[in-house]
Amino acid sequence: EDVGAVSFIGGYEDSRDLPATGLPEVAFLGRSNVGKSSMLNSLQSRASERAEVRISKTPGRTQQINLFRLSDRRKRGLVVLVDLPGYGYTRSISKEDTKKIRSFLLAYLRKRAELRLFLLLVDSRLPAQEVDADVLANLRSMDVPYLVAATKVDRLKASERDANLARLREELQLPSWQPVPFSSMTGENGPLLWRAISDACIG
Ligand code: GDP
Repeated sequence: EDVGAVSFIGGYEDSRDLPATGLPEVAFLGRSNVGKSSMLNSLQSRASERAEVRISKTPGRTQQINLFRLSDRRKRGLVVLVDLPGYGYTRSISKEDTKKIRSFLLAYLRKRAELRLFLLLVDSRLPAQEVDADVLANLRSMDVPYLVAATKVDRLKASERDANLARLREELQLPSWQPVPFSSMTGENGPLLWRAISDACIG
């Protein structure tokens, strides 16, 4: 399916305020700085028309859930991309933070019948982080289809690459084709992520 345009639907501080769009959704989540905005921008740059907005972070402001609509060339809505707030910048995360993340995740997941796929971003340079394993455990317990992508693989030396990916696969107990190595610098595996999104949402 051809993506014609990407438009900003809105930013919401509370998952209860999310509008009903009637479109399938893909949610993006990961620790702050993992490369989520860069991935969203890299994915949307495949749209044939210029995006109305550049997806960017809003430091200092309350973190929001941002919704973006992808439309086809006839402006018919295809998919909504959901940019969830990044979490836990530091490696160690407090119990309170974990609780907060879990409760907002649960609130979002419970509300969104539209959710078709969850994209969890992890940093390819690091071992699995506790908080990511925790998010994954929540997704598994709720039976949400997910895909784990390892970001910034362009930063890895060729000699580190396979070992890092294998370590993440083992630590997070992922299927053999995950984590999907991704780089927004080189665009590596952008088409594969698109295919996964469109398979999950458009069928
Ligand atoms: P977010 O907080 O998850 O939205 O992260 P950003 O997308 O803002 O990226 C955080 C930092 O990592 C920025 O300095 C980006 O330039 C850098 N970054 C993001 N993706 C990549 C990537 O694929 N390769 C490299 N080398 N740097 C990246």
